[in-house]
Amino acid sequence: MGIALAPVHGEDVDALLSHADLALYAAKSGGRNEVRMFMPDMALNTRRRLAIEEGLREAIARGQFHLVFQPKISLRTGQVLGFEALLRWRHPALDDVPPSEFVPIAEESGQIGPVGQWVLETACREAARWPDGLALAVNVSPVQAVSTDLLTQVRRALDLAGLAPERLELEITESSLLNESEPSAKVMQRLRTIGCRIALDDFGTGYSALSYLRQFPFNALKIDRSLMAGLPVHSDAQAIIRMIVSLARTLDLETVAEGVEDASQLEALTRYGCDSAQGYLISRPMPGTDLPAWVAEHVAVPSATVAAEPLALSQAGETHPAASR
Ligand code: C2E
Ligand code: MG
Ligand code: MG
Repeated sequence: MGIALAPVHGEDVDALLSHADLALYAAKSGGRNEVRMFMPDMALNTRRRLAIEEGLREAIARGQFHLVFQPKISLRTGQVLGFEALLRWRHPALDDVPPSEFVPIAEESGQIGPVGQWVLETACREAARWPDGLALAVNVSPVQAVSTDLLTQVRRALDLAGLAPERLELEITESSLLNESEPSAKVMQRLRTIGCRIALDDFGTGYSALSYLRQFPFNALKIDRSLMAGLPVHSDAQAIIRMIVSLARTLDLETVAEGVEDASQLEALTRYGCDSAQGYLISRPMPGTDLPAWVAEHVAVPSATVAAEPLALSQAGETHPAASR
């Protein structure tokens, strides 16, 4: 339900109705059984949303998208395993719009098909030029899996780039699997059949439905970065991450820790047996042009800063993280 009050929110019927409508829209986007009172910034938000929706229609043609790449490293060897492609949009009037804002709008306005295709094709083309063996991870939304022919999109992107399917991993977000689980499970199965890998992104947050792990053919679980904040001092975050790692082992899935920002987190994750990690500590997402130099440099100093140290640490690091610095 959306509420607008006269005379503060409008003095005529049209203004009141349109403001009540905006409040209703805000209530609906908050989930079920919500009530919202109109607030002036709702009008601003709606205008921004419309601008984003409009802007998306021409973003590809106008060359406003680009990709950045964030490395994933092995916690056993310190080796670079691959890179995750992250979409960036430079809108002339709105400046940089983050994907967390425009991807859901692209999904809702039916534009995720072409956007997702652009990402897949551009990322695969880049990855085909990378040093041998480096894997590419691409985020796909399940809306993309159902509303467009994801399998055809993926095949086309791999063919155009001449990239082996084994080098491509698709990352799916858990929250968005909720509505569309049956058809997307079928598409995921077929992607596995052609050789691609599938990872469950943001695992351990709000929607954690463990039944997904049986329903979908995942290769890897990405542990959500919200859990890293508690490492290594908070016993609840420790317990959850340890549980995820041991669950993943039992199910024969790999674990990737996301959003690792400091050395003590990396040390703890290594101790818990997590397989690999990503985060600002290792590197921020970088433009494709910086990637070869970064890889060369990282290979030259393999795991000195990230793996050797944590392995040598005693259990004391767990309760006294400062002592390990
Ligand atoms: P994600 O796939 O979980 O990506 C990780 C996000 O965390 C990225 O934000 C990355 O820049 C950020 N990040 C990485 N390391 C750290 C860290 O150490 N600390 C902190 N605070 N953040 C870190 P970004 O690029 O803004 O992307 C946000 C989300 O948007 C992604 O989450 C993904 O779900 C979605 N997304 C991004 N690119 C695409 C795309 O091409 N297609 C689709 N469907 N979704 C995308
Ligand atoms: Mg991801
Ligand atoms: Mg994530």
